Amino acid sequence: MSTEILKPLPCPACGTPLVPAPSVSRKPAAKLADCLRKCATCDLGYSNALNDPTVIHGDAAANVPIEVRPGVTYTLSNSLNVRNRRSKMAKFGFSTSEDALTWTAFSYLAGQGLLAQALQGIAISFATSPGALLLWGVPVPAADSQAQVVEKRLVEVSDQLRESPLSRSEPDVIVDFGSAGLVLIEVKRFSRNECRKDAEIFTRYLSANVFFHNPRLVVASGLYELARNWRIGCELAGGRPLQLVNLVVAPRAAETARLQKFQSGLAVTPQRVFRQVTWANLLGAFKKPGWLEIAIAKGLRKSGSIGSDKGTSTAARASTAECSRGISCCSVDAQTRGPN
Ligand SMILES: [Zn+2]
Repeated sequence: MSTEILKPLPCPACGTPLVPAPSVSRKPAAKLADCLRKCATCDLGYSNALNDPTVIHGDAAANVPIEVRPGVTYTLSNSLNVRNRRSKMAKFGFSTSEDALTWTAFSYLAGQGLLAQALQGIAISFATSPGALLLWGVPVPAADSQAQVVEKRLVEVSDQLRESPLSRSEPDVIVDFGSAGLVLIEVKRFSRNECRKDAEIFTRYLSANVFFHNPRLVVASGLYELARNWRIGCELAGGRPLQLVNLVVAPRAAETARLQKFQSGLAVTPQRVFRQVTWANLLGAFKKPGWLEIAIAKGLRKSGSIGSDKGTSTAARASTAECSRGISCCSVDAQTRGPN
């Protein structure tokens, strides 16, 4: 495909017009080097999409606000799934990155001592102490001794489940409140929950009947990533209260039946629960600094371009509206559109 149809765009950082480099083909950009529109000064470029191009940063850390940049490269470089590290780092530099939004929100909350307040806002009543944070299995901050204990235990659980040391399960967010309880969060931005039809891959995670009321329903739901997180969360929590939270922009109508099937298969108790919660539920409750408001609004916008100013997406607006109705627990508003 000719490059003539790619329009010049202003650099989202310095405003310099970025004219497409001459090229015989317009292949999708997997990294900055592939971008036909680049700003050498700002070390970023636009993907080669015709509409709503993603901004791709040469330095992945530059994709989060400077206020939360310390520690991000260390955390990504040490994420628990060794085999996935390089790809994780590259994708983090995309303006559409789910991980960048996760880092921005949770590292800010932890740094300001607001984790407990945010989790109380989604009715996690045991969130009373500051809480120890791990992102992708890495303590944040790295020197947090309580989080280091959780990290060690996470590896032990992974070993018990006979996961490969190079490709361990990597929960997005863990917040440990000591004897009070544990929160494990599977984060979604605009991607769906991972759905797998190959039943045999569930086997190692469903072997403990005490955590699963009906393993066959869990397999039938296809929700493999959530099933892994449930088992790992139950093991990490031991006898403590556990909340497994699926954090989404807005519930998807297409996922309702699967989530209900999944939940019916779990051995839930008043102390051990699974819920779906929106980003607006989590972050709507407290006042945020301006830079964070902007970063979160951009993160919850479907458009990939950080220079774009199209306003909030349908899904983000739906989720904001839902904030006033409280928490969505596997209930789906049929009016909300499931983005692809
Ligand atoms: Zn620039």
